[in-house]
Amino acid sequence: AKASGGNRFELADAEADARAITRHGLTTALPTALDRGEFFIEYQPLVHLGDGSVRGAEALVRWLHPQHGVLGPDRFIPLAEHTGLIVPLGRWVLEQSVRQARDWRERHADAGPMRINVNLSPCQLTHPGLVQDTVDILERTGVEPDALCLEVTESALIGADDDLLKPLRRLAEMGVDIALDDFGTGYSNLANLRRLPVSILKLDRSFTQSMQQFPADPVDLKIVEGIVSLAHSLDLAVTVEGVETGAQAEQLRILGCDTAQGWYYARPGPPERLHELALVDATG
Ligand code: C2E
Ligand code: CA
Ligand code: CA
Ligand code: CA
Repeated sequence: AKASGGNRFELADAEADARAITRHGLTTALPTALDRGEFFIEYQPLVHLGDGSVRGAEALVRWLHPQHGVLGPDRFIPLAEHTGLIVPLGRWVLEQSVRQARDWRERHADAGPMRINVNLSPCQLTHPGLVQDTVDILERTGVEPDALCLEVTESALIGADDDLLKPLRRLAEMGVDIALDDFGTGYSNLANLRRLPVSILKLDRSFTQSMQQFPADPVDLKIVEGIVSLAHSLDLAVTVEGVETGAQAEQLRILGCDTAQGWYYARPGPPERLHELALVDATG
């Protein structure tokens, strides 16, 4: 038992080494990855729970690494935040996504206005160029501010002072929607919501997961019901993420959620896939 314990320890050590080496490699490769065009964006549709129509999409960035293949954002966003690359990378994601939204709107004018959701990291929030960069991108692309929704995590805004909220307020006044991402995972005071310039709550995936069983846990049902009714009373729309089954979608629709996102509808995919979904949707 002692020997195998020792082996396990060595194995764990080797894995930790390998992870450290990869992390180091990724950190060195990251600064040039943007110039080399190694990032790309996948889009995941946002679906109206009432009628099933596609109302928009969330942009999710990926890195096609020459040696490691496609890396998800959890592998490199923390590094990009650490190295400061997140600011130019975030700007790139925003511009690509807004262009995509314009394209989509031009090609499917009859399918209703497509909206694009883009994630903002806390570092971008504190970066002084945020408002001007966003204005520039919208002007360059000729996209209306109300086509754009910026997603900020609940944890990034916990205890936020007015300096941090000011740029978000400016954007909200222009007509850009601000969504509170991963809602329900932080410790924010619900009454605090009134202070934040947000118009959408994105309920964290953990709530959706708790709707897996039928009937769902009655306490979880009450919590979601409470959040939805509070959100609606504050004029906030509720989006649910991580919907993987029809039963979850139905449960969340009954609970009053407005919009849903998840593998049940579509996995994140290339923009062409979104065009196909819109066509299917428009033709019934
Ligand atoms: P998020 O904003 O909470 O995005 C939702 C995540 O859930 C995505 O993971 C998405 O692929 C995944 N997902 C969607 N539907 C389902 C489902 O039905 N089941 C399950 N299990 N998962 C689902 P992804 O693409 O790996 O992104 C992870 C996180 O990386 C995002 O979480 C977001 O915080 C961050 N991220 C992605 N793109 C960007 C970006 O451009 N900028 C910044 N700052 N962060 C980004
Ligand atoms: Ca998000
Ligand atoms: Ca989320
Ligand atoms: Ca998340």
